[in-house]
Amino acid sequence: MTVTAPPEDGFSVTVDTVIVGGGAAGMTAALACQEARRACVILERDAVQTGSTALSAGLIPAAGSALQAEAGIDDSAERFAADIQRKAGGEADPEVVAALTAASGPTLDWLAGTHGMPFSVVSDFDYPGHSRRRMHGLPSRAGRELVDRLRNTCTARGIDILTGAHVTTLFADAAGRVQGVGYARPDGGLETVGCDRLILACNGFGGNPEMVAAYTPEIRDALYFGHAGNTGDAIRWGEALGARMRHLGAYQGHGNVAHPHGVLVTWAVLSEGGIQVNRDGRRFWNELQGYSEAARTVIAQPGGEAYAIFDSRIASIARQFEDFRAAEAAGAIVTADTPEALAARLDLPGGALVETMVEIEGTTTCNFGRVFDPTKRLRPPYHGVRVTGALFHTQGGLDVTGTGRVRRASGGLLPNLYAVGGAACGVSGSGDDGYLSGNGLLSAVVLGRLAGAA
Ligand SMILES: Cc1cc2nc3c(=O)[nH]c(=O)nc-3n(C[C@H](O)[C@H](O)[C@H](O)COP(=O)(O)OP(=O)(O)OC[C@H]3O[C@@H](n4cnc5c(N)ncnc54)[C@H](O)[C@@H]3O)c2cc1C
Repeated sequence: MTVTAPPEDGFSVTVDTVIVGGGAAGMTAALACQEARRACVILERDAVQTGSTALSAGLIPAAGSALQAEAGIDDSAERFAADIQRKAGGEADPEVVAALTAASGPTLDWLAGTHGMPFSVVSDFDYPGHSRRRMHGLPSRAGRELVDRLRNTCTARGIDILTGAHVTTLFADAAGRVQGVGYARPDGGLETVGCDRLILACNGFGGNPEMVAAYTPEIRDALYFGHAGNTGDAIRWGEALGARMRHLGAYQGHGNVAHPHGVLVTWAVLSEGGIQVNRDGRRFWNELQGYSEAARTVIAQPGGEAYAIFDSRIASIARQFEDFRAAEAAGAIVTADTPEALAARLDLPGGALVETMVEIEGTTTCNFGRVFDPTKRLRPPYHGVRVTGALFHTQGGLDVTGTGRVRRASGGLLPNLYAVGGAACGVSGSGDDGYLSGNGLLSAVVLGRLAGAA
């Protein structure tokens, strides 16, 4: 990944805006760019773009959307911003938080209205840290559908998406103005395109083991669950251009990935009343804190694993997620009528699991500080699944303004460089416990749109 002086003979093709990366961030940026009547092209390294977006549950948080209003949910950008800052310990950039939360409802309305995407509000369970129900998903509750719908929309609107275009070089002048990029084609050829501005939408560095070890060492041995092609290119280019970096130690983990199947088991199984126990059949933390920090907590248990225990009421809520259905189809989730039988099926010490289940049945607030809702006690038949922790995506990145303009380390802004989605610093603070559900696609979809339109 290099930054070098522009070619002396210029570029044979020039476009107003070049967008590197064809995930949710890149495609929403392109749609907004086109609406603003600025020509753009997306350069995507893969033959068919998927990105981490396709691996996600595709849930986008938005405050004040028309869908929330229809569902009678009273929400506001200010309330959403307060939830983000509470989870991030006040460390998120207030300018970016204000911009994203204010634009979140209108962006969801734009996707659902202007672009006809059939979103609905997840209204049957709460995500930790959100004081209102504001997660919006497509019918499958799967990010693959989000990518497919965005790609179809871009294609229908005539937006150029060049796949098999691995951007390796930025051409910039001495003032840090990007004048074009160079990209490798599958046949080994190198091509170039000039631009008036560049939007980096190539996500973070989860797919780069050296960078993970350097910036987020506590998660370096965990499974990486995101897109392998996200190798930190935006950060390396940004460093070369003198951009300021922010919160490179921040990331989103997840502590409920079916193991060894490698399928995400929605956090709803815990927030709706389920628990996690370790190999000894004992609980080890307050499961309602959040799923990001759960990765580190689960990995610290014996064998780096845990068991999520829930019941059939919860399973029927979780089945709205394609991933959960896939975990069931893979045989990851077992069922039994009693705690003893469940322990036997999961190969856990029966006596300990029975004690744990009896304990939570009579508890309102446990020793770990979790408040149990008496209306959500676990009832037979029970379900259990062996899980581990994984790294989903990094949250640190280029320091940006509320429209995605990249800041210089020395002060001021780079002339024509933008970063959106996982390429930009998110709103999750400096570690792994500041991630509020949906911060990933919030930065991708909303910041992507704001940058595209800027
Ligand atoms: C299992 C899982 C579940 C998740 N669930 C949710 C959820 O429900 N809600 C939520 O908000 N977030 C969720 N996330 C996080 C979310 O997926 C990401 O925050 C979001 O997809 C980031 O979008 P993006 O466009 O920045 O990156 P991506 O979708 O990863 O797209 C980046 C693209 O850039 C391309 N690229 C990289 N380098 C180059 C290069 N040099 N040249 C050309 N192309 C390049 C990549 O191939 C890729 O296609 C989840 C993540 C995972 C892993």
